[in-house]
Amino acid sequence: MTSKLRILGINAHPHDFTHYAGTLGIHASQGDEVTVISMTAGANVHNEKLADELMKSPEQRDPDIMNRTAADYTDMKIDELQTACSYFGISDVRMLDFPEPFRLTTSENSIDALKAIILEIRPHIMITQSPYLLGQAHDYPNPTRDDHTETAFASLEARSQASIAVHGMTVPPHKIAVTYYPGVYFQRNQLDFVVDISDWFDQRVKAEETYISQGHTPEWSFRRMDVTLGNLGFMTGVKHAEGFVREKFEMLSGLPVPDSAIRDAEASHEEMVKSRLGN
Ligand SMILES: [Zn+2]
Repeated sequence: MTSKLRILGINAHPHDFTHYAGTLGIHASQGDEVTVISMTAGANVHNEKLADELMKSPEQRDPDIMNRTAADYTDMKIDELQTACSYFGISDVRMLDFPEPFRLTTSENSIDALKAIILEIRPHIMITQSPYLLGQAHDYPNPTRDDHTETAFASLEARSQASIAVHGMTVPPHKIAVTYYPGVYFQRNQLDFVVDISDWFDQRVKAEETYISQGHTPEWSFRRMDVTLGNLGFMTGVKHAEGFVREKFEMLSGLPVPDSAIRDAEASHEEMVKSRLGN
């Protein structure tokens, strides 16, 4: 077993990494190397302030927001992403800034870009967007390709290409040991495990507040984090948790029983209440 892990997080938009940022913080604080990629600047999908201004009549619109160029907005998004990553000890942040909406048909070169990063970083773990078109938490009646699923397709294809030796390559191919998807794209009963991120809750709230471009206020940020992370924590015996889905089943040497499950099963009612309050 390797002592230090290398983890690569691939996201469609700058805000997407926050859904597993507490887990990344745990690993970064243990000396593991973490890289966060955003495929796009997210300028078109999460520009809530511009959307709000456009709803108003022309004379009521805020000129500061209306006169911002796409480039200003991209710079703002990069700043927000770097600041949010810094709360979790992550400094290797890469904004690939592909056109939006992100689609493989218009950004075919994104596969080569990701492949090059995989061969450079040589991660043990890849966390990427969910490739599943159906069954997602913010679901639609019909399966819809969007920036997230297209990012998943690009990263899975890049992973596959990076693992194969081809003539002309100057570095050895690389196989990624494990791939996970953030639980936020799944129903709760589809999650495989959660990570206790209670110690990173304050940073999750701070990171959420950083995305001013998406209209996040301190009250909104605290409420959103406490409800979503608190829900998974409540179900699993801790204060706050982040959920994950495995790409595929694992080979083990026997039946797994996590220490946390034994602890929860043997806890008194008083201990059960305390663990969920973070005491
Ligand atoms: Zn997104």
